[in-house]
Amino acid sequence: MAQHFDMVIVGAGLSGIGAAYHLQANCPRKSYVVLEGREAIGGTWDLFRYPGIRSDSDMYTLGYSFKPWREAKAIADGPSIRNYVCETASENGIDRNIRFGHQVKRASWSSVDARWTVEAEHGPEKEIVRFTCNFLFMCSGYYSYAGGYTPEFAGTESFAGRIVHPQKWPEDLDYKNKRVVIIGSGATAVTLVPEMAKDAAHVTMLQRSPTYVVSRPGEDAFANWLRRNLPAKLAYGIARWRMVLLQMFTFRLARRRPEKMKKFLLDMVRQELGPDYDIATHFTPNYNPWDQRLCLVPDSDLFQSIKSGKSSVVTDQIESFTPKGIKLKSGKELQADIIVTATGLKLELLGGMQVSVDGVAVNIAKTMTYKGMMYSDVPNLASAFGYTNASWTLKCDLTCEYVCRMLNYMDAHGYKQCTPRQRDPSIHEEPWFDFSSGYIQRAADVLPKQGSKKPWKLYQNYALDLVTLRLGRIDDGTMEFSSPHRAAMPAKEPVRATA
Ligand SMILES: Cc1cc2nc3c(=O)[nH]c(=O)nc-3n(C[C@H](O)[C@H](O)[C@H](O)COP(=O)(O)OP(=O)(O)OC[C@H]3O[C@@H](n4cnc5c(N)ncnc54)[C@H](O)[C@@H]3O)c2cc1C
Repeated sequence: MAQHFDMVIVGAGLSGIGAAYHLQANCPRKSYVVLEGREAIGGTWDLFRYPGIRSDSDMYTLGYSFKPWREAKAIADGPSIRNYVCETASENGIDRNIRFGHQVKRASWSSVDARWTVEAEHGPEKEIVRFTCNFLFMCSGYYSYAGGYTPEFAGTESFAGRIVHPQKWPEDLDYKNKRVVIIGSGATAVTLVPEMAKDAAHVTMLQRSPTYVVSRPGEDAFANWLRRNLPAKLAYGIARWRMVLLQMFTFRLARRRPEKMKKFLLDMVRQELGPDYDIATHFTPNYNPWDQRLCLVPDSDLFQSIKSGKSSVVTDQIESFTPKGIKLKSGKELQADIIVTATGLKLELLGGMQVSVDGVAVNIAKTMTYKGMMYSDVPNLASAFGYTNASWTLKCDLTCEYVCRMLNYMDAHGYKQCTPRQRDPSIHEEPWFDFSSGYIQRAADVLPKQGSKKPWKLYQNYALDLVTLRLGRIDDGTMEFSSPHRAAMPAKEPVRATA
């Protein structure tokens, strides 16, 4: 027997807990369950346990619109973010509606019944548990939880030390007085370097090519002043908008005046590391600012660590692993006791779930995203997906509000099914993201497309999305609303279950 809910939310991370909050607030009569594959709330902020794990965007925009971030640090550590998500769940009774250890594997839509059947594996025996729902909300993040991405390096088996990936950090890893090489130049690598360098003998960040790195104060003095002097919600609202506008301004400037922005960023690094440091080799990327995400470091921690000599940067390519470390294409060899492969994530959409509509398998890569949240020809399913150029939660909050508005609209008009249909021949396909980051390029053939015009175009612009998603028409001529015959009949009310 399948239990029925108005909505099934997949994932109990930042987005899933946010989705449940918005549903409770805006559609209080709707029943829902959150299916979570792991045994904990928090998603990313519970999974990643490497030393120094922290956000790389400020918590005024990574936090929810409805729950002020009350801590002094704007760039927060992983455990504080996890606590914030858990607190949201318990304060609002959302935790009672979570089924842990339910890994969702399949979802099949039936137009005749206007409902999804969702199948999850549960427990060590992987027992199949079935749920049905009117609306499926995927809050399953954007990467595989099974493991991170590690390129194939020759000779890894010959290395005598330990090799670790930040996504599966071993609790017992002792790096005190050890020589550590961290492969990578992204947010994880720049976080790990200064943190591990505090105890390690030396840390080398080995990168194939540099990333733009920018330092910001870990605490936002203005936001903290607001917090001390104004009611919490007002202070948070002002701090949030200030950061939104700042992010939008820097992104636009980077796209319009890339050379100016490049000079500005490199001058800052020069000021940090001094005129003798080889910034051209180690901190000057071969792409323009915001063609990939900028790497933020709080309170110049990376630069101070480099200046102190506790860590260093090597820009080179790996020839092979050796018993003692890594041989580079330049002929140099890096000695290491521990190698950390901070080489990224494996992108995965819809939590790896198989989807079918009326018995036909859906290839999500062949779909076009509607308003950055639904997929062409896939009914009653939305995904919470954040911005690439700003904090994740900004877009997720708007998506959740929009889904609730749409559900209320459907109830008011007696509709059971909503399906985005792309029938405009003047709209052409574009890649989902115009980012050159490796993890996005690697996944290009599994990602959906965006369209060249609204409502299929992703503008990556919070202010614009705020207006269109909060105030724009639900019945916009692209979303097809319908009431399949059987669902429209005054049949027995489904049994409303509570989780
Ligand atoms: C190290 C790191 C740092 C980051 N820092 C920032 C930052 O500073 N700012 C920013 O904006 N973004 C950042 N991000 C992106 C980050 O993932 C988002 O900010 C946000 O945490 C995503 O929340 P989410 O709930 O959508 O997804 P996740 O946190 O990934 O949570 C998804 C949840 O869904 C569950 N799930 C997945 N598939 C299934 C399934 N099939 N069945 C059941 N459950 C499933 C998972 O177990 C997990 O609990 C960072 C990401 C990483 C990896």
